[in-house]
Amino acid sequence: MNNPKIWLSSPHMGGTEQKFVQEAFDANWVAPLGPNVNGLEQDLEHYLGNEAHVGALSSGTAAIHLGLILLGVQAGDEVLCQSMTFSASANPILYLGAIPVFIDSEMDTWNLCPLALEEAILDRIATGKMPKAIIAVHLYGVPYRIDEIRTIADKYGIPILEDSAEALGSSYKGQQCGTFGDIGVLSFNGNKIITTSGGGAIVTRTKALKDRAVFFATQSRDDAPHYQHSEIGYNYRMSNICAGIGRGQMEVLDDHVVLRRKMHSFYVDLFSAIDLVTVFTAPNDDYFANYWLSAIVVEPNALKGISRETLRLAFEVANIECRPLWKPMHLQPVFEKYPYYGGIVSETLFERGLCLPSGSNLTDEERDRISAVIREFFTTA
Ligand SMILES: *Cc1c(COP(=O)(O)O)cnc(C)c1O
Repeated sequence: MNNPKIWLSSPHMGGTEQKFVQEAFDANWVAPLGPNVNGLEQDLEHYLGNEAHVGALSSGTAAIHLGLILLGVQAGDEVLCQSMTFSASANPILYLGAIPVFIDSEMDTWNLCPLALEEAILDRIATGKMPKAIIAVHLYGVPYRIDEIRTIADKYGIPILEDSAEALGSSYKGQQCGTFGDIGVLSFNGNKIITTSGGGAIVTRTKALKDRAVFFATQSRDDAPHYQHSEIGYNYRMSNICAGIGRGQMEVLDDHVVLRRKMHSFYVDLFSAIDLVTVFTAPNDDYFANYWLSAIVVEPNALKGISRETLRLAFEVANIECRPLWKPMHLQPVFEKYPYYGGIVSETLFERGLCLPSGSNLTDEERDRISAVIREFFTTA
C-alpha cells in the first residue's frame, strides 16, 4: 500500500506567512519580541472582541502555567480540572506543586459535568479546602456548558481558567471562546486550527493582567538598568518569527473554521445510515463549534467485529491516521492517585470514541479514500 498518509490534523499555510517572517528577517527582529508579536496580539484581540487582552507565549501549556499563577494558585492548593482532556491542561497544576482534582464529563458537550463539579466543590469544602481554580476545556472545539459552569464558579467564588486551546473560532451565543474564563488560553501548536509552528497565548480581561503575564514570561525583570528580580520568572514569550507565521494564519482562520466544519458535515452525511456510529455534534444552536477534530462514538458489536479499535485498525491499514479520544487524566498512571469526582462518562467515551482526519487541507481524493474505508468496514462487518 503506497497511498500517501492522511493525517489527523496537519498544518495548513495560507500563503502570506512567509511575508511576515521575511519582514522580521529584513528588520533583524529575530527575538522573542517585535512587531509581529504585537501585530499577532492585536489581530487576536480584534478577533476575540469582548475587550480581550492577549499576550503571545511560547505554548498553550505556558499560558496555562502563567494563568494559574495569575489566579494565585500555590503549592498545596487544589485545582479542579476536567479529566477528559490533553495532559497539558493538568500538568501545570503539578508544576506549581498544587493538587489536581479531576472531574468527569457530561454526554452533550463531552466537557465538565456541572453536577460532578458542584459535588466536588462541596466535598472539597467539607474536607476543609476551598478549590483555587476550575480548569474547563472546550474539547475538540465544542464549547463547555458555559452558563452552568459560570453559575457554579460564581456561587462559590472560584475563578475559571478557560482552556480554549482547541476552540479558537468557536463561540457560544455569539461570544468567542477564549473570552469566557477569568483567564483564557489559546494554542498554536502544529496540529491546531491555526499554527505558529509552536506557540500559544493568554487571554485576560484587563491590560494590567496581560502586562503581568508578559512580565512573568520575560524572566520577571524589575524596572532597573541591570538585571534585577524580585519574583521567579519564566522564558515563555513567543518569538517574532513564530508570530509572523501567526499573523499570516490569522488571515485564513475563518476559512479554516469553514473547512473544518465541512469535514464535520462530511462525516455526519457519511455515518447517517450507520446506526452504530454517532458523530459528536454540538447540542444546539447556542454552541458554534470550530470542529477542530471530528470525533465519533462507535457502539461496539462483538458479533460483527465492530469497535472503535477495529475501525481504527482498518484506517491504519489504509494509511489513514485516526486516534482514540483523549484518555481521561484520572486514568493516567501519572495522575491516578489524585481525587476524582463523577461516573464513567469520560471513561466510556474514551473506550468508544475515535478522532477522524479533520484537517482544513484535506482533498476530495483523500475524502474518497476515507469514505471507501468506512463503507467497506461497515458492509463487510
Ligand atoms: C494543545 C492543547 C494544549 C497545549 O497547547 P500547546 O501549545 O501544545 O502547549 C492544552 N490544552 C488542550 C486541550 C490542548 O488541546
